[in-house]
Parts: sequence; C-alpha cells; structure tokens
Amino acid sequence: MDISVIIPLYNEEESLPELHAWIQRVMNENGFSYEVIFVNDGSTDRSWQVIEKLAEESDRVKGIKFRRNYGKSPALFCGFEKAQGDVVITMDADLQDSPDEIPELYRMITRDGYDLVSGYKKKRYDPLSKTLPTKLFNATARAVSGIKNLHDFNCGLKAYRRDVVKNIEVYGEMHRYIPYLAKNAGFGKIGEKVVQHQARKYGTTKFGLNRFVNGYLDLISLWFLSKFGVKPMHIFGFLGSLMFVFGFIAVVYIGLHKLYAMYSGQPYILVTDSPYFYLALTTMILGTQLFLAGFLGEMIARNAPERNNYQIEKEL
Ligand code: UDP
Ligand code: MG
Repeated sequence: MDISVIIPLYNEEESLPELHAWIQRVMNENGFSYEVIFVNDGSTDRSWQVIEKLAEESDRVKGIKFRRNYGKSPALFCGFEKAQGDVVITMDADLQDSPDEIPELYRMITRDGYDLVSGYKKKRYDPLSKTLPTKLFNATARAVSGIKNLHDFNCGLKAYRRDVVKNIEVYGEMHRYIPYLAKNAGFGKIGEKVVQHQARKYGTTKFGLNRFVNGYLDLISLWFLSKFGVKPMHIFGFLGSLMFVFGFIAVVYIGLHKLYAMYSGQPYILVTDSPYFYLALTTMILGTQLFLAGFLGEMIARNAPERNNYQIEKEL
C-alpha cells in the first residue's frame, strides 16, 4: 500500500464527509493505493456515526474509536500503530490542511529520500493571538532541537516514511515535537514543504493558549531527556560535586582563618556567627542532594526497559 492517511479528530462531524471525498478524489486522480484511518478521540458529537457510514461506503476507510478524549498525541500514536502504507500522512480533520498536498509530500519521501516532511503554513488563517506566539514557539523549538530548517513544528500536515512512525513513541502532548522525536531516534533527513492553509470552516479549535505553556515545559523535558535521560549522573553528579567541593573548601578556609586568628592573638568570632559559614553549609548540603538525585536517576535509568533500545538500520 502506498499511503496511509491518519486523521485524529475530536468533534468534527461536519468536516468529515467533505474531507474524505477530497482525499478520495486526490488519491484516485494520482492512482495511489491508500487507506484513511480516522481516529475518533472520544468525540461527543456524531463523528463516529459519520465514520461508520464512510467505512460502509468504502473499504479503504478504517476507524479507531477511543472510549474517552485522550488528546491528539494518543490519537496519532494509535493511528501510527495501525498504519500499513509505505508513506504515512497525518492531517487535521478540520479542513485547515489541504489533501491536494499529498502527491508532492509522497514524492518528497519516496523520491527525495526524506524521512519526514513537515508542512509549513507560511500564510496562516488563524487569529493573531495564535500566530504571534507560534513564531516564538518555533524559534525556541528550532534552537533547542537543532533542527534549523523547520518553521512550523506543530503543523498537523506531515508525511513520514513508515519506519519513522513505527520507531517513535508519541505520548502526552508530544505531537508538537514529532520532528524532534524523529531526530532523536536517528531519522535525520527532515524537510519542509510550504502548504496551503485555510481558516477553520466548521467547529472550534480544541487547544487554548495554555498550549504554549505546556509546549515549553514539554520542550524542556524532551531536551533534558535526550541529553541526560540515560546518564542523569553526568549533569546532577557534576553540579553536585562542584557545589560540594566549593562549599567544602569554603568551610575549611573559614575554620583555618579562625584558628590562625586564635593563635596569633587577633580578635575572632564564633564560626557560626559568620554568614559565610551558612552559605558554605548550604552549598555542601545542596551539592549532596544533587549528587544523590543523580545517583537515584542513574539507578532508575539502569532499570528502564528501553535503556538498550537502539535503532539498528542494517546488519550483515
Ligand atoms: N484533536 C484531537 N483530540 C484533541 C484535540 C484535537 O484529536 O483532544 C484533533 C482535532 O479534531 C483536529 C486536530 O486535532 O483534527 C487539530 O486540532 P485543532 O484544529 O483544534 O488545532 P489548531 O488547528 O487550532 O491548532
Ligand atoms: Mg485546526
């Protein structure tokens, strides 16, 4: 099978028939063999009935129905597991992404050798309250992930080589950083294609402004995990040792300073009356704590089931 189209959706009943007809038209015009996987993320409207009806009419339509609303990432994860096509395309259900982009995305994966191609909504039809923070968000994501050529990490329209989706695990709200996940898994050829974008035709957006707060926290988690996930001691142990040594030297200095003063007959105070003593003490305690955190992290990493999970591309 050439293409799997995965469509996560939450309360999008009005869009689905139109979207499906459009995808069908594009696929038939280009002679692709394909499947469309609708992942109904606990919709409370009639979305599932609409999907059932589409599946009756065409055996290329497949569906997954969640018992409740889990979020876009879990929906994508389950779609990825089910997908069988050589190229996997994800697309929002709200008709903001255009199925007309599919043939070119397919070509970029199969001919140009990209592992992942992300859409870039260069001209957006979204409110300013969303486009402006999005620019900032993408600049940060570029800097942190090191994927310098992407302008639109969170674009719903993306194409993947099948290997990519079978080897990454999207969870929580990590759908915003799939290119970063792919890069960490060793799929480095990541491209971008400028795509058409439409204003939402039906229904309302499912994400509020808290997407940016959560997005930043997720980015920090991912960065940290990819840097120190399997070797927490390298950061915590280093910082902890540094602080401890620093505090220790300070304490020794304070002690020697007093002894020197005592024996040379100069005026002196109790060590505990010196503010530096408390600074040094705190530094030593924090250093020990950090070191301990690193050690505990190391014990956990040792037991993580994926500690030896490598991407082996070829073997002879
Ligand atoms: N979506 C989903 N589960 C959710 C929230 C959203 O499957 O909990 C789907 C939604 O139906 C749509 C896509 O994710 O197909 C993108 O959502 P939306 O259009 O609301 O996001 P925006 O375009 O505002 O970024
Ligand atoms: Mg949308």
